[in-house]
Amino acid sequence: MLDLQWLRMNANEVQQVAGLKGINIDIAQLLDLDVERRELLQQVEVLRQQRNEQSKRVGMLIQNGEHIQAEQVKHQVRAMNERLSTLEEELEQVRIKLNEGMLYVPNIVSPDTPHGRSDADNVEVKRVGTPEAPTFKPRDHIELGELHEMIDIPRGVKTAGTRHYYLKGAGVLLHRAVQQLALDLLMKRGFTPLEVPLMARTAAMMNTGFFPTGQDQSYAIVDEDQWLVGTSEVPLVAYYSNEVVDVSEPIRLAAVSTCFRSEVGSAGKDVHGLYRVHQFAKVEQVVICEADRALAEQLHQEITAHAEEIVQLLELPYRMMAVCTGDMAQKTYKQFDIETWMPSRQAYGETHSSSNLLDFQARRSGIRYRDAEGQLKFAYTLNNTAVATPRILIPLLENHQDEDGGIHVPQALRPYMNGLAYLAPP
Ligand code: AMP
Repeated sequence: MLDLQWLRMNANEVQQVAGLKGINIDIAQLLDLDVERRELLQQVEVLRQQRNEQSKRVGMLIQNGEHIQAEQVKHQVRAMNERLSTLEEELEQVRIKLNEGMLYVPNIVSPDTPHGRSDADNVEVKRVGTPEAPTFKPRDHIELGELHEMIDIPRGVKTAGTRHYYLKGAGVLLHRAVQQLALDLLMKRGFTPLEVPLMARTAAMMNTGFFPTGQDQSYAIVDEDQWLVGTSEVPLVAYYSNEVVDVSEPIRLAAVSTCFRSEVGSAGKDVHGLYRVHQFAKVEQVVICEADRALAEQLHQEITAHAEEIVQLLELPYRMMAVCTGDMAQKTYKQFDIETWMPSRQAYGETHSSSNLLDFQARRSGIRYRDAEGQLKFAYTLNNTAVATPRILIPLLENHQDEDGGIHVPQALRPYMNGLAYLAPP
């Protein structure tokens, strides 16, 4: 959420950003509501003061024995009270409308964010590693998964419906190995690991910027004010909601969590295999720091570099994309995606997403700190995937396969696989 006072001064910029992000909102109309709110507030305050003065007068008139006049003033006070409750009700309605509207206002975007409508307009920043030119017809991850009895989609669908799967045997080991590798790396880089709730209240979803836009992406718990989280970013940020935190050193948090997504709107998209599923695991990095753009930029580079390090440890070719305005969430100020080479697609596919949100999330969540002058300020928040699986298993299996279907386990994963270096074809 943006600061209302700041929004008043920068309405044009925000209206323009809304257009660039494809968000349908009328900032001028919203600010009219704010004017209305302030006018009503003033009327209420003036009337309240007048009513209080008149009430006092009633007491004095009675003391002086001026009963007829006291009755007349009492009558006026009653009329004032009626008018006051009408105005207070109007004010409350305007306040609610304004607060609701503010939840849809987009965050601004960084000056170096490319402008565009969709992921097709994202700009490649760099490529690392070269996809191997195939000397044989490579199997895709599902063929490899079936060959090694690691992935079972039909039974996943039988049990839970479309976009569900089972992992088995070495599939489970790989799935867990990439998560532990990522978590260990983050802990070495100073991140505190947390086991987090996988359900969150509506307020937490709202405050972290996943609601109201995007609410349809979440699964609700029936008859409860709770939702299954689509990412541990929600519980990690909500951990500090409505607290004054010490960010003299940036707070670095990591969680391994299951993520649940309805994927509404993606019918018919990425229907093959493990790319887009309803339930997956993600190791997430969240950083909370002082409201300093240069520092946030540095931390954004830092968390992005962690993701790169992990992809490099998995020995996978990838490219970094500067995400354009139209492919960004409402809450995002600046974003990089890492796309990893997926031979079955003969293309790079998104595996990581790294975002700088400035104080958008912290303002909604009430996460503040005291600056050097002792002033309370909203902190900045950033987040990035360290690894998301089973999606990462797609490039992992497909890039490391032999012609006969054998799979080489990257060196860095072997300690997490009981030393296993090679999955021989059965
Ligand atoms: P996000 O939290 O949306 O930025 O996504 C971070 C990463 O999680 C993506 O880059 C993917 O690797 C993974 N991911 C997101 N949605 C899905 C999904 N529906 N199925 C599998 N992996 C996903």
